[in-house]
Amino acid sequence: MIVILLGPPGAGKGTQAKRLEEKYRLVQLSTGDMLRAEGKSGSALGRKVQAIMDTGQLVSDDIIIALIADRIDRLAGQGFILDGFPRTVPQAEALDRLLRDKGLKLDHVIEMTVDEAALIDRIAGRFSCAKCGASYHDRHHRPKVDGVCDGCGSHDFVRRADDNPEAVKIRLEAYRRQTAPILPYYRKKGTLRQVDGMADIDSVARQIEEIVNGQ
Ligand SMILES: [Zn+2]
Repeated sequence: MIVILLGPPGAGKGTQAKRLEEKYRLVQLSTGDMLRAEGKSGSALGRKVQAIMDTGQLVSDDIIIALIADRIDRLAGQGFILDGFPRTVPQAEALDRLLRDKGLKLDHVIEMTVDEAALIDRIAGRFSCAKCGASYHDRHHRPKVDGVCDGCGSHDFVRRADDNPEAVKIRLEAYRRQTAPILPYYRKKGTLRQVDGMADIDSVARQIEEIVNGQ
């Protein structure tokens, strides 16, 4: 089974990908990780990739496709979830050609849709205990006693610097820009399905499983 999982940062895509991996024995192929690993490997292709990344340029589609092709061969028939690729129509077409050449086909493109205002509220309000890592939220999940961690009693809390409304908006815009071109492509092919990414984790997982199970 071959799946592309799409979802904006903060929608819980990582969590859902992990569940798919466990339940269906899929492997998550993140093109970012693949490029970094190849760069470090010291192979001829790796040296080329590293040189391109060192200058801050984008690695060409041909190289990414070659990397994916190589990984697919090494998976020896095991299914996978693509993460971070494709992001353009030419990349989607190149992926189709690659899969066709290998006698494979893309089974599902699943988009986790979100209500952006609600997502901004969800992300921008979160903080966690500096000592035990327990997570909290300004409005939805405050500690029982203000300023005291429920789990360990610590008074120290941390907030990620980029978990503020402005930074979240910028991340969402970047996501929209990156995925906007490929959504119509897959919609036209009939492969695109959407799930409500704002539902709770188990319910999102159930929606995804229904699609994957062909219901
Ligand atoms: Zn704590």
